[in-house]
Amino acid sequence: MRKPIVVGNWKMNKTIREAVDLVSELKPLVVDVSNVEVGVAPPFTALSAVRDAIGGANILLGGQNVFWESGGAFTGEISPAMLKDAGCDFVILGHSERRQYFRETDAEVNRKVKAVLSEQLALIVCVGELLEQREAGQASSVVGGQIRGCLAGLSPEDMERLVIAYEPVWAIGTGKTATPQIAETMHGEIRAVVEDMFGGETAEAVRIQYGGSVNPENVDALMTEPDIDGALVGGASLKAEAFSQIVRRTKK
Ligand code: PEP
Repeated sequence: MRKPIVVGNWKMNKTIREAVDLVSELKPLVVDVSNVEVGVAPPFTALSAVRDAIGGANILLGGQNVFWESGGAFTGEISPAMLKDAGCDFVILGHSERRQYFRETDAEVNRKVKAVLSEQLALIVCVGELLEQREAGQASSVVGGQIRGCLAGLSPEDMERLVIAYEPVWAIGTGKTATPQIAETMHGEIRAVVEDMFGGETAEAVRIQYGGSVNPENVDALMTEPDIDGALVGGASLKAEAFSQIVRRTKK
């Protein structure tokens, strides 16, 4: 049985004070949740303070990006060890906004994945097709190619610390959610690619989140699909009440 995981990607939002307030509000709302893993990914500046605010509560902490080098003259970058030092449990990699605005490639995501794994952090690797790719019938090949590129050279053991987030780019921040059927089909295809790369056991065990305008109203239908193992949530994660409702409704 895969334990679902729901993570809030706060993106470039929240001052340190606001981030601490948000996680402090969230804590009591999810304190009794044991059947779902819960995580938040604040901006870098708020990581340490949010770590302190979480304390020993059942909320994982993650970064939204990382660089693959371990240190040195890389102005503006953050290493996996630094994320760990700030109290992170995981990091999000390959988000479509990184791909779109910062031209991140699958090969770069792959380097980051390997660097993060060597620091013993967990990770969420995001994949997803553009609207024009879906309309051209290329969704499966695009997402399959991203999986193969981002996860190249990994072992089945590495995969135990990795979660995949399927986030169709046309559904992110647009209010347009993929139908549960579209999401389920893509999750099944992703699992098949993972099986081809790492074998059936890994494919059965790997958790695949759906992301793209998830909210308390549409989460139920998505989570009844057998291959959807939680959600990566953007906009709705900025409100403790909405995010906690998504968490609470995500049970298999
Ligand atoms: C995201 O950024 O990962 C995301 C899914 O955003 P939203 O929920 O706002 O669509």
